[in-house]
Amino acid sequence: GDGAHVPVLVIGTGYGGSVAALRMAQAGINVEMVEMGMAWDTPGSDGKIFCNTTSPDERSYWLRTKTKQPLSNFLGFPIDKTIPKHTGVLDAEEFGGIIVYQGRGVGGGSLVNGGMAVTPKRENFGAILPTVNADEMYNTYYPRANAGLGVGLIDPNWFDTVDCYQFARVGRKQAQRSNFPFVFVPDVYDWDYMKQEAAGTVPKSAVAGEILYGNNYGKKSLQKTYIAQAKGTGRVNISPLHRVASVTPSGSSYTVVIEQLNTSGDVTATKTVLADKVFFAAGSVGTSKLLVKLKATGKLPGLNGEIGQGWGDNGNVMCGRANHLWDPTGKVQASIPCGGIDNWTAGGAFAEVAPLPTGIETYASFYLSITKNPNRAQFSWDGSKVNLNWQTAWKQPSIDMAKTIFDKINSKEGTIYRTDLFGTYKIWGDHLTYHPLGGAVLNKATDNYGRLAGYRNLYAIDGSLIPGNTSVNPFVTITALAERNIEKIIATDF
Ligand code: FAD
Repeated sequence: GDGAHVPVLVIGTGYGGSVAALRMAQAGINVEMVEMGMAWDTPGSDGKIFCNTTSPDERSYWLRTKTKQPLSNFLGFPIDKTIPKHTGVLDAEEFGGIIVYQGRGVGGGSLVNGGMAVTPKRENFGAILPTVNADEMYNTYYPRANAGLGVGLIDPNWFDTVDCYQFARVGRKQAQRSNFPFVFVPDVYDWDYMKQEAAGTVPKSAVAGEILYGNNYGKKSLQKTYIAQAKGTGRVNISPLHRVASVTPSGSSYTVVIEQLNTSGDVTATKTVLADKVFFAAGSVGTSKLLVKLKATGKLPGLNGEIGQGWGDNGNVMCGRANHLWDPTGKVQASIPCGGIDNWTAGGAFAEVAPLPTGIETYASFYLSITKNPNRAQFSWDGSKVNLNWQTAWKQPSIDMAKTIFDKINSKEGTIYRTDLFGTYKIWGDHLTYHPLGGAVLNKATDNYGRLAGYRNLYAIDGSLIPGNTSVNPFVTITALAERNIEKIIATDF
């Protein structure tokens, strides 16, 4: 509450924040977590906590009056619709040259993401986090993260026969016909539950297309794993609909100013808390925006010049292909991807075979590629807000890398790209990312364990630490790095 003095305050309840909170609580430390989004623990009038991708309502978007769907068009027609302004679960945050999609609520990105839980290939790790000991990560922290997150793999025999993965089998067949390896991708979705969904014996979630605006069943979001365990210690308190506005030194502690929000996004109260230690876990964008502003406005002037630097989009780019009529991808598609095409070493691209769960046969194959895009952007303060200088044209290397896969598949199959999914006659979804990374890079803006340079007892512990690319989907690496850092911090800083 207002005026309290707490030992530890964690800003944000995504992967980094949840790992930090659990491990500190297990070490006997009381933790206060502050989350700007909603709790997502109460069903709406339809009996469900989250709304479906096919019928977005006020629960879908963070403070928008119109949806901002990643696939904005179908057959060339815009498909976005009007919604009431509300503190919904998915934020489509617009900067000049890129829209950054993020989760809002207790659980952060785990509420809205595909749950693809991928440990990078060891040979690529040196380029991902060059100052981190790879042996320790692969022997201890990646296994710990995979266990904590509840990662599992689809049953390959079930995959081979079930209707809802027809789209992925087409993706596999076409990849292999062009001599690309197709790999199964682990996920935190409960695969046994999905089998029952497909069999019609339990309420449907993934098989009914739930994903971007939350899964009502089946997905092991952080609410069901790290956060449930953290709450179980009795030492963690979470305040949803509270947004940290400022952190500034006060004696040997920090004064944290927190704004309480209503579900229309208005500030209804401002509270001040004194915290001995503060963990920035607001996500790459959230942590970067806070730190850049606090440095520029004199609240934390001692932060170093690396703050806001080294931001990347994990090379995300999307595209669709139009299949022949003998390659239907299926009317019913599970919303959880389970496989990818690996051309990282030769072409710099790893492409998820993604669903297009429209409920009708589209004959389309859809992909989200993660590429080795070398471009990095920076955040800066303009006197009233924080901007990001990413340019849309900086996606060209990603397009070129994705083409190393899909030009070849198209030529082998005699097929073409879809041009109707992102506008009219537009092939590439090059306007967005799901994977923001960087802004408070490890061993640059912080020491090698996330302690922010210039201050004692201030830490970054989320995707902001990772310099722009993980070669695969990022949350397992964010979780494993947080496990590594918090172990060191608990051992030495308390
Ligand atoms: P986040 O999970 O973003 O958590 C930060 C939290 O801090 C948020 O809840 C936010 O509301 C809160 N916050 C921000 N600012 C403040 C503030 N000032 N005060 C209080 N709270 C604040 N990754 C994968 O690995 N696999 C996938 O399949 C995958 N699919 C994705 C699909 C989508 C649609 C999206 C959007 C992302 C996907 N990701 C995926 C990315 C993944 O979700 C993120 O990399 C991950 O959530 C980042 O973790 P984090 O701990 O850095 O921060």
